[in-house]
Amino acid sequence: MNLILIAPPAAGKGTQSEFICNHYNLNHLSTGDLLREVASKDDPKSLEIKELMNKGMLISDEIILDLIENKIKENEGFVFDGFPRTLNQAVSFDKLLEKLNKKIDKVIYLTVDKEVASQRIAGRYVCPSCGSVYNFKPDEEITPCKCGEALIKRKDDNVETFEKRYDVYMNETFPIIDFYREKGLISEVDSSKTPTEVFDDIKAVLD
Ligand code: ADP
Repeated sequence: MNLILIAPPAAGKGTQSEFICNHYNLNHLSTGDLLREVASKDDPKSLEIKELMNKGMLISDEIILDLIENKIKENEGFVFDGFPRTLNQAVSFDKLLEKLNKKIDKVIYLTVDKEVASQRIAGRYVCPSCGSVYNFKPDEEITPCKCGEALIKRKDDNVETFEKRYDVYMNETFPIIDFYREKGLISEVDSSKTPTEVFDDIKAVLD
């Protein structure tokens, strides 16, 4: 089974991808995670990627499609998290899947209000060592990770960058929902509930 998750920033794509992958035994392919790995190196190309990500802007379709093609040849059964993110990526992805004799079974569209997403961004912390993601309430104390490491904020998890990411989402990514709706692949799930409730709704769509 191959699934795509589409959602605005901080809607819970990463969290739900992990749940889905564990439950259905699929491979998690997050272009955000792949790019953060590239951005941690210090050659000119990686620094350019890092700068764009910190500003909340998109990385070129060419770079993204290369990353995807290499990864999907390695395995079977994926949850695509954060990809495709532009209409051009979606169209190119269709061609690539056809070439590799693969197909998308379902596209899950996680919906959440901008206000809720913005609050989640404010409370989101990550572990620089093991990559775990945590969400804290505004008055909650920021505790260390379960692995003992002190948590940090992602460089692009601040109010200004969130505004940019949200605009980019509305302009570039939102149109691909209609592209997949016309193919009869879209299922909408309300992502403003708790993570387990959202996952229950996703299972109801997939089972
Ligand atoms: P979120 O969806 O919460 O904004 P991601 O981890 O999915 O976070 O993405 C972080 C950043 O990585 C994006 O703001 C963008 O700069 C870059 N990125 C991720 N996926 C893509 C993609 N498919 N195409 C272009 N840029 C991407």
